[in-house]
Amino acid sequence: MPSDSDCVFCKIIARAIPAHVIYEDDAVLAFLDISPLAPGHALIVPKGHYGLLTDMPEAVAASMMRMLPELGKAAMTVTQAPGFNILLNNGSVAGQVVGHVHIHLIPRRPDDGLGYRWPTGQYAEGEAERVHSSYRRALQR
Ligand code: 5GP
Ligand code: ZN
Repeated sequence: MPSDSDCVFCKIIARAIPAHVIYEDDAVLAFLDISPLAPGHALIVPKGHYGLLTDMPEAVAASMMRMLPELGKAAMTVTQAPGFNILLNNGSVAGQVVGHVHIHLIPRRPDDGLGYRWPTGQYAEGEAERVHSSYRRALQR
């Protein structure tokens, strides 16, 4: 399993630095975020060091996602939040700071003040068709 001795999440996985671990199996560790957006904000990380989601083998990515329903249910039970956001910042342009892929599980309450920016746009004439064709080509197996 790849590891990086300079990586803060690899250090947590190796128990070289402490964290409030809430779940562990052969492939995955989940622990409380040290600077939570809301109480119960947790991080789910693969035990292997992969910088980006797009660096991960499919099976490893699948094992990281597998526990999301269970962890989400636990977050709602523990925090009494009626919902949650799942967020993966892939790349620094998307807000990724720690270079070890991780999923944020953020419990949400109606008046938590976190908000949500979702400034929708529109495709120009023919643009959706071009993007669609490019996706289909990129995803041909
Ligand atoms: P990113 O912006 O990379 O998606 O999020 C990284 C997250 O890791 C941040 O929410 C930050 O609070 C959390 N984090 C950074 N260092 C540590 C640490 O040493 N321990 C824990 N538990 N969380 C950390
Ligand atoms: Zn790492």
